Amino acid sequence: MARMTGREYVESLKELELEVYYMGRKITRVTDELMFMPHINTAAMTYELACDPEYAEIMTATSHLSGETINRFTHIHHSIDDLVKKIRMMRLLGQKTGTCFQRCVGLDALNALYTTTYDLDQERGTQYHRNFKKFLSHVQSKDLMSAGAMTDPRGDRSFRPSEQKSPYAYLKITNRNQDGIIVNGAKAHITGAINSHEIIVLPTRAMGEDDREFAVSFATPVNTRGIKYIFSRQTNDSRRLESPLDSGNPKYAIVGGEAVILFKDVFIPWERVFMAGEAEFCASLVETFAGNHRANYGGCKVGLADVVIGASHWIADAHGVAKASHIVDKLTDMIAMAETCWSCSLSCSYEGHQTPSGSYSINPMLANVTKLNITKLAYEWMRVAHDIAGGKIITLPSEKDLDMPELGDIIRECFSGRDGVDVDDIFKMLRLIENMSVGAGLPEAMHGAGSPAAQKIMIARRSGIDRKRVYAETIAGIRPDQLFESIVGMNEAEYWKKTRDRIKNQQ
Ligand SMILES: Cc1cc2nc3c(=O)[nH]c(=O)nc-3n(C[C@H](O)[C@H](O)[C@H](O)COP(=O)(O)OP(=O)(O)OC[C@H]3O[C@@H](n4cnc5c(N)ncnc54)[C@H](O)[C@@H]3O)c2cc1C
Repeated sequence: MARMTGREYVESLKELELEVYYMGRKITRVTDELMFMPHINTAAMTYELACDPEYAEIMTATSHLSGETINRFTHIHHSIDDLVKKIRMMRLLGQKTGTCFQRCVGLDALNALYTTTYDLDQERGTQYHRNFKKFLSHVQSKDLMSAGAMTDPRGDRSFRPSEQKSPYAYLKITNRNQDGIIVNGAKAHITGAINSHEIIVLPTRAMGEDDREFAVSFATPVNTRGIKYIFSRQTNDSRRLESPLDSGNPKYAIVGGEAVILFKDVFIPWERVFMAGEAEFCASLVETFAGNHRANYGGCKVGLADVVIGASHWIADAHGVAKASHIVDKLTDMIAMAETCWSCSLSCSYEGHQTPSGSYSINPMLANVTKLNITKLAYEWMRVAHDIAGGKIITLPSEKDLDMPELGDIIRECFSGRDGVDVDDIFKMLRLIENMSVGAGLPEAMHGAGSPAAQKIMIARRSGIDRKRVYAETIAGIRPDQLFESIVGMNEAEYWKKTRDRIKNQQ
């Protein structure tokens, strides 16, 4: 079996027994929990579309290991075309779900590990790439969803991992034997963790000599002994249990369903270990992962922008203002901002390169610029959506009040729009805008794939500022300009002497 349908994916989760905590309750079968279902439905979309012939070109790829057709979410990019199709896949899924579809973190972890384990083995003679390819083959052949667990809780951020007081600040290797390693610690904010099949752990930062035991990467099934999950709260999450209408996007919810993962004496066999102490390779692993992941944001978030722009136009139309010049202007601004971010994601993909392992990776400078733009422009297009939608997105009465025989019709009249538009549809659209623009979605655009400062560090590091100084010095005449000398047919000093003489003679 190389691909699961959405339904088969949901069924596959029923076989897993986890230890998940949510609102003080322990849950072992995630599909039994109403709160989790919209997130599960969203992840299921990544499976469903890959089985739909209409989307096969974007959603599937040919495995370089088996030659089989696989879900693109398990693929190692082997061309520029793969990088571009990945971004198209992100936008498509954003358009279909209006939220985070969770599976990109695992995809980016797979790709980052493919290149880094290759480099590691080349330099150190280790077996990590072989281990990793075996794991990859398992993921591809079973079409598994992997959560990418990079971010540690990190305590006081000014301390290095080895300086932290709490054992939960950073995940670490606490023991090794001939069979494998034992790890303890935690990972935080992990998207899709409770509804994945595998967790891929990566180090969260560059590590120094004293941090070697924190330089660890491995993959383990979600139901491994010693692992607990604590599912996050989200804005308006409890509305899901009260009213589908009030929750705004009842089918797919908001952001990705994040969880803290606790590791207590978790055993990982060597064949599932991809790094164990090679601190010198953490920086390149983190950078490669972050680059691949930041590239996505002009895809997925632009897919979400497409939905919000559509919703904004719909509501303006329902209110009879769709043709007002300032509304047309604002919608056009939203579209231009979204397409700017789309251009960034496409450009970092088209400017990608082949790595020594044979796989392809994005242009890191442009990927970081993509994500940095999202941290600003996603807020800006949501601001415009608020402007167009009106204050109702945060003041509407609830579905329960709409259901009251003595009040329902009056409320409907209060919130009606232009003739011919069903007021219940107005409620649905306003709630969708509220869900997408008021709550957890925006901080996700800010911090997912790293906070803006992380992007700026990468941009500054790769800015080529010295080269830019040379351009300026050359044009200003501080450095020799051989091209100019070739154009004028003499050296610059002589040319400017002649020019000055000519100016004098003309005066
Ligand atoms: C919705 C969502 C989904 C996510 N999904 C995943 C996932 O699937 N997998 C995963 O691994 N991670 C995931 N993340 C984590 C994400 O990568 C982090 O949120 C991000 O790296 C920022 O870390 P933080 O949230 O701990 O913020 P903080 O580190 O607390 O950052 C807050 C501020 O402090 C600054 N800061 C932090 N450290 C320093 C320092 N040393 N020096 C100076 N300034 C500093 C930051 O720049 C920022 O301005 C997700 C996050 C969100 C919000």
